[in-house]
Amino acid sequence: MKKTEKSAILLIYTGGTIGMKENGHGLVPFDFSQILDEVPELQKFTFKIDSYTFDPLIDSSDVEPGMWKDLACLIKEKYEDYDGFVVLHGTDTMAYSASALSFMLDNLAKPVIFTGSQLPVGSLRTDGKENLVSAIEVASARDSRGRAMVPEVAIYFNSQLIRGNRATKVNATAFDAFRSPNCPPLAEAGIKIRYNKAVIRYPSPEAAQLVIHTDLDTRVAILKVHPGITEQVARNVLLGSGIRAVIIETYGSGNAISKPWFTDIIRESAAGGKIILNITQCLAGDVNMNLYATGKALKEAGVVSGGDLTTEGGLAKLFYLMGEYADNERVKQLLEKNLKGEISK
Ligand code: ASP
Repeated sequence: MKKTEKSAILLIYTGGTIGMKENGHGLVPFDFSQILDEVPELQKFTFKIDSYTFDPLIDSSDVEPGMWKDLACLIKEKYEDYDGFVVLHGTDTMAYSASALSFMLDNLAKPVIFTGSQLPVGSLRTDGKENLVSAIEVASARDSRGRAMVPEVAIYFNSQLIRGNRATKVNATAFDAFRSPNCPPLAEAGIKIRYNKAVIRYPSPEAAQLVIHTDLDTRVAILKVHPGITEQVARNVLLGSGIRAVIIETYGSGNAISKPWFTDIIRESAAGGKIILNITQCLAGDVNMNLYATGKALKEAGVVSGGDLTTEGGLAKLFYLMGEYADNERVKQLLEKNLKGEISK
């Protein structure tokens, strides 16, 4: 790839549709050293683009926290050698991975831009080329003072750059696959890429070096409340063993079933030490447990408000906080604080 001293980007290929090719039996990942054959446009960049390929390449349905750890360690190891990082990743769990990395990378001063595509990069109507080329452009963009334009973990997809821990996949087939329902895009690409500097988070000038947090505690269960949920199901999840925290996906502004059996289970679970995080099932808006009696009952029972967290962001935040702190009260306090732009307050 082209080499000048201008800028340097590391393309990290983890798998997903973007790097797949039809081999007669279905889509399989192609050797990434062939990327220039598939995307000759990359040669037009006037700076160095290196690549790193994960082994094995995976469909992102198989992503596990160990892979996030590998990604964080790789970025740490290569941090001084590159000005930005582009992570090619399957779309199915991209919002989970981008959320996780946003908490795992502390004092980030360089862009870490996730992208992928709905159609393989080599196919005629692919969305992968534009996503890849623009993600590289965003990862290399600097402001007039030479600082990275977007020193955040973000997702570039279908002309929008969105904060990683605000993203959610909303469409299985359309190119417009991601949304950031509670946070405006960090940038939008048209003829020019317009950066939304009022929304982008910059590290404080005194921020020390990049620090990575790789101890994740994954003992989290997710319970989606729904009409007809049985007491036994709620009991199994909320009082189950091997679970340190439960995300309850509630209705509307954070409401759940007002029947005493449900509130009793919640109370017993919280009293037993479990962290219970309330996240709304709605795509947009936030949890407010002061609004309705059903919400108030949850609050009184010790449930923590997730505000306008996505489930992906909430899960990642819990993994990270529980990995960092043994004290559940400390975890609960920090859950309600905005750490990485994941909630609106
Ligand atoms: N199943 C694929 C994956 O997430 C879908 C995609 O890449 O868009 O890896």
